[in-house]
Amino acid sequence: MNKVELLDRWTKEKSEDLYGIKSWGGRYFSISDQGEVMINPYKESESAVSLMEITNGVKDRGIDMPVLLRFENVLDAQIAYLNDSFNSAIQTLGYKGSYQGVYPIKVNQQQQVVHEVAKFGQRYHHGLEVGSKPELIAALSEMKDKESCLICNGYKDEEFIDIGMYAIKMGFKCFFVIEIPGELDLILERAKALNVTPNIGIRIKLSSKAGGHWTESGGDRSIFGLNMSQTIEIVDILKKRGMLDTLKLMHYHLGSQVPNIRDIRTAVREAARVYAELIKEGAPMGYLDLGGGLAVDYDGSNTNYTNSSNYSVEEYCSDVVEAVMSVMDDGEIEHPVIITESGRALVAYYSVLLFNVLDVATFEEHEVPETLGQELAEPIHSLHEVNKNITTRNLQECYNDALYYRDNIRDMFNHGHISLRDKALAEKIFWNTIYQIVQKKRKLKFVPSELVDLENVIADIYYCNFSVFQSIPDCWAIDQLFPVMPIHRLLELPSRNSVIADITCDCDGKINKFIDRSDVKNTLPLHPLLEKKDYYLGIFLVGAYQETLGDLHNLFGDTNVVSIRLNKDGSHDIINEIHGDSVDDVLGYVEYDTNEMRTNYRKTAEDAVKKGLITAKERREIMSSYENGLRGYTYYER
Ligand SMILES: *Cc1c(COP(=O)(O)O)cnc(C)c1O
Repeated sequence: MNKVELLDRWTKEKSEDLYGIKSWGGRYFSISDQGEVMINPYKESESAVSLMEITNGVKDRGIDMPVLLRFENVLDAQIAYLNDSFNSAIQTLGYKGSYQGVYPIKVNQQQQVVHEVAKFGQRYHHGLEVGSKPELIAALSEMKDKESCLICNGYKDEEFIDIGMYAIKMGFKCFFVIEIPGELDLILERAKALNVTPNIGIRIKLSSKAGGHWTESGGDRSIFGLNMSQTIEIVDILKKRGMLDTLKLMHYHLGSQVPNIRDIRTAVREAARVYAELIKEGAPMGYLDLGGGLAVDYDGSNTNYTNSSNYSVEEYCSDVVEAVMSVMDDGEIEHPVIITESGRALVAYYSVLLFNVLDVATFEEHEVPETLGQELAEPIHSLHEVNKNITTRNLQECYNDALYYRDNIRDMFNHGHISLRDKALAEKIFWNTIYQIVQKKRKLKFVPSELVDLENVIADIYYCNFSVFQSIPDCWAIDQLFPVMPIHRLLELPSRNSVIADITCDCDGKINKFIDRSDVKNTLPLHPLLEKKDYYLGIFLVGAYQETLGDLHNLFGDTNVVSIRLNKDGSHDIINEIHGDSVDDVLGYVEYDTNEMRTNYRKTAEDAVKKGLITAKERREIMSSYENGLRGYTYYER
C-alpha cells in the first residue's frame, strides 16, 4: 500500500456517510467493522446478522440471485414501534381513548405479511383494512382477534357486504365504510335481510391537501369519499330510518407518503372537527380513522421532500393525539379510539432485494495521438486542438467546441466525406476531451451548470441481475428513490461512479437517480469488480407496494423469496423459501400452453432431422436444452 492510500484509508464511517445508511436505515441497518451491511431488529448489538452471511447461506442452498429477503422480526418490531409510540403519546398527554391501528392489506398482500401482522398485531389489537372482496376474504382467513378492527373500504357489492355481515355475527369488529352515497341502501338492506346490526363508517373528503405524490387522494377534488353535503345526507337517511346509532366511525385518507407533518396536523384537526359535529348530530361514533400517509424517510434527508419525511414516528403519534384531544376537549366530547391505516411505515423496512452484478461497462480513458496525419479532415484537426489545450479556465469553451466539431464530423460522415476509421478516431478524441473536462471540473469551486451532469455521461454501467419493473416498479413509474448500496467491501474505497442497468434491455430498466441527503445523485459510487468474485448490491426499504405492483416486463418473473427469522443470539433461521417464477410459469401467465410449445418445437426439430441439418441424437440434446430453459429461473443463472 502506498503512502497516499494509507493516509486516505477508507473506513466504515466513510461508507456510512457516503451511503447514508444511518439516516435511512431506521433502527435496523448498519455497517460492521468487517465492512458488511448488518441487520438487527433488537437493541442488543450481539444480535446483528451480516447480510453477506445470509447471502452465502442462501447461495450454498442453491437459491439463485436475485433474492428478496423478508425479515419477519423487522415487521414485528415496526408494529411494536408504532403501537408503543402511540401508547406512550397517549399516556404522556393524558388522552382518555386508545389507539387501534389497522394494516391496509394492499400495501403488501403476501400471505406471510398478513399472517404476521394478524398474529403479532394481536397483542396490540392491531387489525386489518381491506379495500376489496378478495382482501376481505384473505383477512378473514388470518384474523383471530375479535378486539381488533376490520375496516372495509372500497366499493362493496352484495357478496362483499354479506361476508362482512357474517363476520359481525361471529363477533368481529367489522366496519363498513361508505365511500359513495349509493352504498348505504344496499348495506342497510343486507343488514336487515341477515338480521345483523351493522357498524357504519363514512369516508369524508377533507379540504386539506397534502404535498407529495398522492395529493389527489386527499382534498376536495379527491375521487373518494363524501363531501359535507353528502355526509349530512347520510346522517339524515340514518336518522329517518332510526339507525343513526349504527354510525360509529369516520374515516379519511390524505394520500400515501405525506412528507410534511404540517399537512398531517392540519388534516387531523379538520377531521376531528367533522367528527365532533357528527357527535352533535346525534351519532354515537367512537372511532376516528385517520387513514394512511405516515411517511418513510427513504433518502434519509429528514425533510419534506417527496421521498423523505420531516418527522419521526414518535412525533407523528404525539401530534395526532394532541390534535384530536384538543378538538375533543373544546367540544367536551369523549376521546375516540384513534385508528390509523399506516401501511408503508409498517412494511417498508421488512424486505431487501439482493442481486449480483453481472458485468461492468467502464468508460475507458481513450488514448489520443500527439499528432494527427495531414490527410484528416479539418474538423478532426480542430477537435484535436481543443483536446490538447484544456485547462481549468476554459472548460465550458472546450466543451462547446468539442460538441460543435463532433457534430461537424458527424455531418461529414453522413455525407460520405469521412471514413468509418477516421470517425472512430474522432470519437476517441471527443471522449477523451469529455473525460479530461470532467476530471478538471472536479477541482472547480463553481461548476458551470452545463458541466454538472457530465459526470453521469462518463459513469460506469453496472449490469445487474434483476428487473426494475418486477422488483422496484415505483422507481420506474413515479421516480421513487430507494437506498441502494453494496452489502460488503465497505472498508474499501468505492472508486467507480456508476449507474445501474437491469437485465430487461429496456432503456427505462435502469437506476440513475440515487438518494442523497441534500440533493439527488446521478451516480452511485461502487467498487471495481474483482476477478472471479461476486459483487452484491442490495436495494433497501422495498417492503411496501413494490411486490404486488411488479410486472412481467420482458417476462422476468417473481424473484426467489427467502424469509428469515433473526434470533437474539445473532443466529438466523431460514423459515420459508419460495421459488420465483420459472420460464414456463411466466409463459403461462401470458397464455402460452407450454405443452403445445414443446410439441411445436419438437416438430421443428424433427423437420431439421429430416432435412439432414441435425442428427437424431442432436435433436435429443436440443429438446433437452429447451426443456431446461422452460424449467429454469427467468433471471441470469450461473
Ligand atoms: C393506500 C391506503 C392506505 C395506506 O397508506 P400508507 O401511506 O401506505 O400508510 C391507507 N388507507 C387507504 C384507504 C389507502 O387507500
